[in-house]
Amino acid sequence: MKVYKFGGASVKDAAGVSNLYEIVSSLNDRPLVVVVSAMGKTTNALEKVLHLAKDAKMQETYQALELVFEMHRRICYGLFRQNHAIFERLAAIEAEMKFVVEQIPGLPYNQAYDSLVGYGELISTYIVSAYFQEKGLKHQWLDARQYIITDSSWRMAMVNMEETRSRISKLGMNKNDIVLTQGFIGSNNEGHMTTLGREGSDYSAALFAWALGAQSLTLWKDVPGVMSADPAVYSDAEVFSFVPYREAVELTYYGASVIHPKTIKPLENAGIPLLVKSFKEPMLPGTLIAAGDTTVPAVPSRIRKTNQVLITLKPNDLSFVSESMMAAVLQEFHTTGIRIHLMQNSALSLSVCIDYDPVRVEPLLHSLSQRFRLKYNSGLTLLTIRHYLHQPDILAKETKHRKILLEQRSRSTAQYVFGE
Ligand code: ASP
Ligand code: MG
Repeated sequence: MKVYKFGGASVKDAAGVSNLYEIVSSLNDRPLVVVVSAMGKTTNALEKVLHLAKDAKMQETYQALELVFEMHRRICYGLFRQNHAIFERLAAIEAEMKFVVEQIPGLPYNQAYDSLVGYGELISTYIVSAYFQEKGLKHQWLDARQYIITDSSWRMAMVNMEETRSRISKLGMNKNDIVLTQGFIGSNNEGHMTTLGREGSDYSAALFAWALGAQSLTLWKDVPGVMSADPAVYSDAEVFSFVPYREAVELTYYGASVIHPKTIKPLENAGIPLLVKSFKEPMLPGTLIAAGDTTVPAVPSRIRKTNQVLITLKPNDLSFVSESMMAAVLQEFHTTGIRIHLMQNSALSLSVCIDYDPVRVEPLLHSLSQRFRLKYNSGLTLLTIRHYLHQPDILAKETKHRKILLEQRSRSTAQYVFGE
């Protein structure tokens, strides 16, 4: 029993869907669970629909929704004959989504988000399922909302592990079965759709693998594996053939976007190996993530995050930054759902580096400004270098001619916040 996960980039067009089918049918791993994300940039497009609906710009909202369906229909024209039932299916979902959109102005933002954005994965798996059927590939389409059970922390729902495991393990898959389902979505106790956080499909796939005691999980990506740096930025980026679970957690913690941060834990707990492979070149070995000590090859990893904000808080009244003050501030970040990538404090100030997500950051800044003098810089880059000792000149090379706003270094990790 294996699990495959295909991300949005792998199904961004008709050729992608047919490539997914080729991989699933030719590799012949059975039984198999296939987890698929929303197609291409659908999730971003649905976020846009949401924003327009929230601003009560209803005409523009419907236009933006129409664009989402045009994109999917275009993919379907490349896969099916014109009168195929999938087109009616799409029309029915569009009608349903219009109804959902109408409710949005009355809902809190995060809840509205979860009522709408996860439709991207439903549409995507309806299309893939219809294509499998067209090709005569027997499978079962599964509604992940019936299996991934969460609390109601909209947009970052926490999974109820016991309930989820119990539901998935009842699937009872036979020797040749293929199950096709969605990533990213689940439902709360009231049966409302929830989402696990952007790029959360990897985590969904890990949950299926964990609950079923799978032999392995393969994430099919548009890169040849876990790389030592983003190849679009660094020409010397290398593919790791092996990464220990622990190092994979560290890399995702520091923002390596190849794997969702929550993916590793359930796999490690159950001793399930994770493979990261290229859907463009499925025969390449990719990266194996499993128990072990060091990466192969032993080279530093560079993780670059742009669009960062560095916020410095100073108590209004010259009081020292104390543990209790820090605890209160951290609690506030936590409740707003903002992750801190780097933190540093002195007697009279506390600095944190975070992603710039206006919906979350603006209200937080407003609230903090009641108690602190705030200084913040946006448009920054955070560079994290893991295992810099593997290459002695790397720190000098990476910081040359850069304006360093903040620096932090341990024996294994160096971090820099750079200005423009
Ligand atoms: N479609 C969702 C996103 O783009 C989930 C995922 O791709 O993993 O964030
Ligand atoms: Mg995606």
